[in-house]
Amino acid sequence: MKNFRIVDLSWPIEPGGPAFPGDPSFDWSLSGDYPSHGYRDRVLRLHSHAATHVDAPAHVLPGGLSLDRLPLDHFFGPACVADVRGAPNIRREHLQPYQNILAQCDFVLLRTGMEKSWGSPEYFESWPALSPEAAQWLAGLGLKGVGVDAASVDSPEAAELPAHRALLGANMVVVENLRRLGELPAQDFFLNVLPLPIAEADGSPVRAAGFIPA
Ligand SMILES: [Zn+2]
Repeated sequence: MKNFRIVDLSWPIEPGGPAFPGDPSFDWSLSGDYPSHGYRDRVLRLHSHAATHVDAPAHVLPGGLSLDRLPLDHFFGPACVADVRGAPNIRREHLQPYQNILAQCDFVLLRTGMEKSWGSPEYFESWPALSPEAAQWLAGLGLKGVGVDAASVDSPEAAELPAHRALLGANMVVVENLRRLGELPAQDFFLNVLPLPIAEADGSPVRAAGFIPA
């Protein structure tokens, strides 16, 4: 991969790190240590939607595909960034200007600017969400997935999760809690969001990365 610059789009996974309200925070305990065992290893308590992660259709749809049942090529491909900073919520008219670019992409990453609040209470209080109509429109474009630099594609008030249902119902994946979207070009880069091969995974933390041709 000599001819690419790589941008790490994932937040660190740290004990006590930020977690969605109600979700357990990441934690670990030592199962082996150098003095007693001659090596170190750990048991992880890792929520399936911790930090930067991918949602599977099975997250909100009973009978929906889990991550381990989606083909691997569902988790990488050409991507683009839609800059929606300043919009209180993301409507179809914010995305429509990107229609021609989207036609050449497998993924669209929605840059809301929320990443600057990661680690503070505001991050999980409110954020720009995808309107149901915008989500329906994206779901019809033949994309593999939609990513966002915020806690969710749905607003905290949307108990029915309409954006999740629209996107995941089209067998797309949703990537949440991305960062550094400002370091990516608007288009012509490659996204990788390969999840762990956890059986029946409704979600998985991922090491999301953007590959930019040098
Ligand atoms: Zn999730």
